[in-house]
Amino acid sequence: MIRSRNLRKRFGPLEVLRGIDFEVQAGQTSALIGPSGSGKSTLLRCINQLETIDGGLLEVKGQRLGVRQTSRGWVRLTEDAVRRQRLGIGMVFQRFNLFGHLTALDNIVLAQRKVLGRSKGEAREAAHRQLRRVGLANRGDAYPSQLSGGQQQRVAIARALAMDPEIMLFDEPTSALDPELVSEVLDVIAQLASERMTMIIVTHEIRFAQRAATTIHMLADGQIIESGSPDLLISAPSHERTRAFLAQVH
Ligand code: ADP
Ligand code: MG
Repeated sequence: MIRSRNLRKRFGPLEVLRGIDFEVQAGQTSALIGPSGSGKSTLLRCINQLETIDGGLLEVKGQRLGVRQTSRGWVRLTEDAVRRQRLGIGMVFQRFNLFGHLTALDNIVLAQRKVLGRSKGEAREAAHRQLRRVGLANRGDAYPSQLSGGQQQRVAIARALAMDPEIMLFDEPTSALDPELVSEVLDVIAQLASERMTMIIVTHEIRFAQRAATTIHMLADGQIIESGSPDLLISAPSHERTRAFLAQVH
């Protein structure tokens, strides 16, 4: 589903991604871990084309991102092509970014109407379905301010799911939550994992990664320094940086 080779990204003089190699198979849940500032968000943003890449290869669903091959060589994708590619990818951020003046249901309806051009009835039906999926069947009429942080994040997940993505990206989805609200969100994500949704989750919740992920990737110094099955990577990390990081977050 996702493949990168020697992927590079810089911000001015700062080279953030310095040759990322990794792969995500369809139906897999990948956890992306690593120190703050190591480039985890940047990597997700490259996959979702919120950032353009500076070098290397990045393929999503077999399509090379950022550039397109023509008889004149590689050229940048048009904005339209980028938009089409991005459609299949749902993203959930640390902050839920729900519209405060819209109900949970209408928050989920909005993008479906605007981006997918769905009818009102169709969009509402999908919204109800996804609210059920995240355990909020009867909170559709609530405004964000009437919901807990955990519930708001589940609405944000439902909103992303309603777009029928083939890939879901989560960027520290529980970092902004009070501790007692973390598990309700992680349970929803674990449920998606068991349904074999293709996902990448940036998280510091190592126990969760161990439980729900197929593979853990450790990012440090702009590279994936280690990838492996959760049990192996956590119990027997082969890299000193991984060992040190795990000791800190555990
Ligand atoms: P992480 O998510 O692992 O904490 P980020 O991907 O957010 O790391 O950031 C990696 C590095 O890139 C940091 O040093 C950050 O300050 C820098 N960075 C991220 N986005 C930008 C930007 N738009 N402009 C300049 N520097 C950025
Ligand atoms: Mg980040």
